[in-house]
Amino acid sequence: MKNIKKRTIGGIIIIGLIIIIICLLPPIYKESQPYTQFMAAVDKNEVASIDITLSSNTFTYTLKNGSQYRTENPKYNDFKKDMLEKGIEVDEKKEMSNYMSFITIGMMGLFMIIMLHTISGREKTTIQSSSKSLYLSSVKFSDVAGHTELKKDLMQIIDFLKNPKIYKKAGAKLPKGILLYGPPGTGKTLLAKAIAGEASVNFRAVSGSDFDEKFVGVGAGRIRELFKWARKNSPCILFIDEIDALGGKRGGNISADRQTINALLSEMDGFTAGNGVLVVAATNRLQDLDPALTRPGRFDNRFAVPLPSTSKERREIIDIYTKDKRFDDSVDLDAFAKEMVGASPAVIEAVINEAAILSAADGSCVITKAMLDEAYFKQLMEGHSKKDAERQQDEIKLTAYHEAGHALLGFLFGDEITKISIVPSTSGAGGVTMFNQKKVGLYSKQELEQQVMTLYAGRLAEEVLVGPDNVTTGASNDIERASELLYDMVVSYGMGKEDSLISYSVIQAGKSVITDQILAYSERLRYDAEMIINSNKDKLKMIAEKLIENETIDGDELRKIFE
Ligand code: ADP
Ligand code: ZN
Repeated sequence: MKNIKKRTIGGIIIIGLIIIIICLLPPIYKESQPYTQFMAAVDKNEVASIDITLSSNTFTYTLKNGSQYRTENPKYNDFKKDMLEKGIEVDEKKEMSNYMSFITIGMMGLFMIIMLHTISGREKTTIQSSSKSLYLSSVKFSDVAGHTELKKDLMQIIDFLKNPKIYKKAGAKLPKGILLYGPPGTGKTLLAKAIAGEASVNFRAVSGSDFDEKFVGVGAGRIRELFKWARKNSPCILFIDEIDALGGKRGGNISADRQTINALLSEMDGFTAGNGVLVVAATNRLQDLDPALTRPGRFDNRFAVPLPSTSKERREIIDIYTKDKRFDDSVDLDAFAKEMVGASPAVIEAVINEAAILSAADGSCVITKAMLDEAYFKQLMEGHSKKDAERQQDEIKLTAYHEAGHALLGFLFGDEITKISIVPSTSGAGGVTMFNQKKVGLYSKQELEQQVMTLYAGRLAEEVLVGPDNVTTGASNDIERASELLYDMVVSYGMGKEDSLISYSVIQAGKSVITDQILAYSERLRYDAEMIINSNKDKLKMIAEKLIENETIDGDELRKIFE
């Protein structure tokens, strides 16, 4: 905005000056004549007067009939005398006339304005080209869904950015850096922009990988340059995405990384001195962060930016991105919020956008449940659902039984199942059964056992269909997760043999002791799960058949099967 205004004003000044100059020009820019013609006029006694400035290369003469011309100044010493002798009036000036100097000053002024304009324009472009991402952020906290507590904490920091003097006067310790961590697409960048937007300060984003250099000192030099620039544009939020890329853990050049990190830390120290640059860093992988960055006194303000964990939170995000869209009666946004288990805000946004595109392509511009589903699966399966891909009939059937197994036990254990699908994905999963996360926090032993059994149910249902020798690799992920659960139950939670209240890792128990217990536990749960499946084979078959027919069924349809 500011730039545009400046430019418009500059443009008006220039145009104004040009108009003035054009108006003034005609009197001096008389038609030019060759000197010989002038001499001919002198000889014919037609010339009335001469207007001459000694230093000028031309002079103006007026004929007796009133017309004026310009011609070359011969610049010989007796020129004035010669003319006077011929009865011609001579108006001679040593320097330029007032009129001329006015014009000259005007021209020079114009020239300077043009120069200044070009220079400042050039300055603008260099800043822009070296930092495409500097701007005054217009993002506000109201644009960020969820993260309520976090936003409250950040308000404090914003207040500091707005009133640094008061805080300094109070001797308050100022934050050096803020670290936001959490899975991709949860709004870390968005929050950083919102901090800048709420505090009305400049925002600039860089990525940690920009400093990932093979050569010692290059990354560090870039950091110093960046901060120098940031201080010039302070107050300013410097957002460093993927800060985990800075540091030795990634196996780059260790000493180059060291220097880069040290440069960053010492520049950040400068912030306390009041240069008005606040570093906000983000990472998806807190565990990969260089310990130098996480030591006390560095990124002291650390905030988790988690995935939305309840359908209420997801509904908030959905509301933001559905504001300007139309839906038909088949769409229940609350149900949609439940179905999007585990989805990040970025994914939710992408799904809604994809559905909007489908509604536009269809010409209606009204989003239906079918469009939302298609959009969701496109996202979920990370690519187009391969609907048309040739798939063996028996593979489809096996996948249907596998997913039906998960759904059956999940349902019987009281889990909320939002969607079951055998739509093949480009990411390799044969099908998927989606649960609504029941809760966060403590799990009972019974709940953990049920989770293991539900995981086993996929493979066990395959066995029901094709017998133990023809099961597939489709269960590998389930088995892995079940094993992890069992390991934790036995080793850490004191839920193993005779519920021995021992941490096997603390007493450093031998591997075989642990393995034996896990094996026994696993066998028991497998047996129990098999019993449940065998006594509900009819339901299993119904779910599987419905899946083969429809490819995808939702929670309501599943409930109907059990009614
Ligand atoms: P991150 O930096 O955590 O990977 P981003 O902030 O870049 O994620 O989020 C990507 C996009 O997803 C954002 O531009 C925004 O459109 C959307 N988004 C992410 N989190 C939220 C949120 N909490 N509320 C609203 N939109 C969000
Ligand atoms: Zn499975």
